[in-house]
Amino acid sequence: RAKKSLKTNFEYYAPEMEEQTTWRLDMIRQLRDDFGERKLQLWYQPQIDLVTQEIIGMEALLRWPSSDGGFVSPAVFVPLAEYSGLIIDIGAWVMHEACEKLRLLNEANFTGLRMAVNVSMPQFRDPEFIDLVKKAIVDNGLAPECIELEITESIVMDEPQLVVDALHELKEFGVKVALDDFGTGFSSMSYLQQLPLDRLKVDRAFVNEISPNKSAFIAETIVTLGAKLGLRTIAEGIEKPEQANFLLKLGCDEAQGFMYAKPMPFDDLMMFIEQHKTT
Ligand code: C2E
Ligand code: MG
Ligand code: MG
Ligand code: MG
Repeated sequence: RAKKSLKTNFEYYAPEMEEQTTWRLDMIRQLRDDFGERKLQLWYQPQIDLVTQEIIGMEALLRWPSSDGGFVSPAVFVPLAEYSGLIIDIGAWVMHEACEKLRLLNEANFTGLRMAVNVSMPQFRDPEFIDLVKKAIVDNGLAPECIELEITESIVMDEPQLVVDALHELKEFGVKVALDDFGTGFSSMSYLQQLPLDRLKVDRAFVNEISPNKSAFIAETIVTLGAKLGLRTIAEGIEKPEQANFLLKLGCDEAQGFMYAKPMPFDDLMMFIEQHKTT
């Protein structure tokens, strides 16, 4: 009887599961091909000092063009790239590309800017990771302090020691470290002690609402926590002036969001920075 019901379940679920698996494998194959053909792009979203309103840097964000003229969301393809291991090669390309673009900005006399680069767990398992980060920085003649690695809480949960050790070595070299999407993962507090952090990124889930409600209290708590730990804080997903004002009053240092600028290709970023400078 047990066997029979098992078989029934199997027959019931099999087509759906197969479809899922096929879809995933198709996506991964396509991603590998497109990456090989240099079709992935890196876009940049400016980051702003809440007090001076100046552009202080940007976050590099992957873009994968799709055949319909749009883009596949990174929320969809980055997990597939992680699952397949492709993120190791893609992430290495991202690091070199981001460093090269920061060098071009410096050469155009836009100096003192910071480039934030997202990093996934599988990259820390790559024995060449630390060296490739250093090489990208050195090859482009950058000050290591201008490169910031963005990691998430979930990254640290997998293999804490591996990540903590790698980050310490990179910190010694000079790069900065930010904890992304803070407050949306698990075990935040214990890792706050172990990780060599420079910045907390307040997730946009907590800046959406500015009236005195739960989100606002959480945003306030994160900003206070950051300040007490000696970390800078940056709020993600700022879409309205009320949100910017609210966070400024809380003592949040920096902001990033559609209100200032959406992620954009490098040439547009150059123009955006140029315009922002002269106005
Ligand atoms: P993230 O690192 O938290 O990046 C911020 C996301 O918020 C970006 O989504 C950005 O476009 C979006 N965003 C910024 N301001 C606003 C706003 O005002 N409103 C709203 N609604 N959204 C805003 P995006 O580009 O789709 O990236 C999603 C995630 O994919 C990133 O989240 C990051 O986790 C991952 N990702 C992107 N690029 C890379 C990469 O090069 N490497 C790795 N490992 N992950 C990446
Ligand atoms: Mg990020
Ligand atoms: Mg984030
Ligand atoms: Mg995220």
